[in-house]
Amino acid sequence: VKSIAVLTSGGDSQGMNAAVRAVVRSALYHGLEVYGVQRGYQGLINNDLRPMDLRSVGDIIQRGGTILQTARCKEFITAEGQQKGADVLRERGIDGLVVIGGDGSYQGANKLSKLGIKTMGLPGTIDNDIPFTDFTIGFDTAVSIVVDAINKLRDTMTSHERSSVVEVMGRHCGDIALYAGLASGAETILVPEVPFDLDQVASRMQENFQSGKRHSIIVVAEGAGRGEDITRGITERSGIEPRVTVLGHIQRGGNPTHNDRILASQLGDFAVRMLMEGQSSKSCGIIRGELVATDIDKVVSTKKPFNMDLYNLALRLSQ
Ligand code: ATP
Repeated sequence: VKSIAVLTSGGDSQGMNAAVRAVVRSALYHGLEVYGVQRGYQGLINNDLRPMDLRSVGDIIQRGGTILQTARCKEFITAEGQQKGADVLRERGIDGLVVIGGDGSYQGANKLSKLGIKTMGLPGTIDNDIPFTDFTIGFDTAVSIVVDAINKLRDTMTSHERSSVVEVMGRHCGDIALYAGLASGAETILVPEVPFDLDQVASRMQENFQSGKRHSIIVVAEGAGRGEDITRGITERSGIEPRVTVLGHIQRGGNPTHNDRILASQLGDFAVRMLMEGQSSKSCGIIRGELVATDIDKVVSTKKPFNMDLYNLALRLSQ
């Protein structure tokens, strides 16, 4: 591999810039040429690539979003679209590609590798829904944002002796709700991985208020239910009227935490070294401090296991 490209794809996440920076600087360090692809696979098909130098990734490690921009590209799901993408790379003499994104973006990388382009995937998503890595790039920052928001809600909830339902992101993976809920002392955490009974949620709230609790926070991952529906369900069952807050896209913005920057830096550099070794179609991750590369095929066909120990701990500590 002599020349590589890097792109960001799918939903953005904090730390994508730090990952792009790491890929570019590591590639240059190792004497490779490196190109940035604008707007994910759409930019690849449109031949929207530019050479990157050390300065083109200056002053971005601390910034949210992605300087390469991101897109969802229907054309790339077709065999013709993928062939166009591979042709663009080949015509420019680029033989390696680092894709920073989620599940869908990984599938795209997998297809390109079958067309002879060496590809590496970096898990860039706030959801932490990619297996074979403890954490994805952006997750730590998203959790911090949710914890910060709940701290603020708590202040006003306690003053008014009220309860709050906070809806957070996570369609299939409840990790943001789990980690933020545990870290902020939520009374109830609702996630798609664990079935729940609103009757129990409501009666627990009643009991806790009767036993002197002055506030109560329910964190719900969007995949477990809409905040509004949960709120209505609780009111119908208990007469308690929680206020609902939907955090939405705020969770995807802002400066990445040092954890996300370090993770992105390690994974970006690792991806470049793997490409230089001739590896392809692998997802880069860190498991218990160790860098690991796992076949993308395996990654996209495996569901990330849910951390029931942490969930049960949160339950025990939230009496
Ligand atoms: P997130 O989950 O954070 O939104 P993602 O990477 O899963 O990120 P998707 O929109 O699913 O986001 O995928 C991003 C892009 O990857 C798609 O717009 C498409 O161009 C490409 N892609 C998705 N699935 C495939 C596939 N099966 N084959 C080829 N390319 C794909």
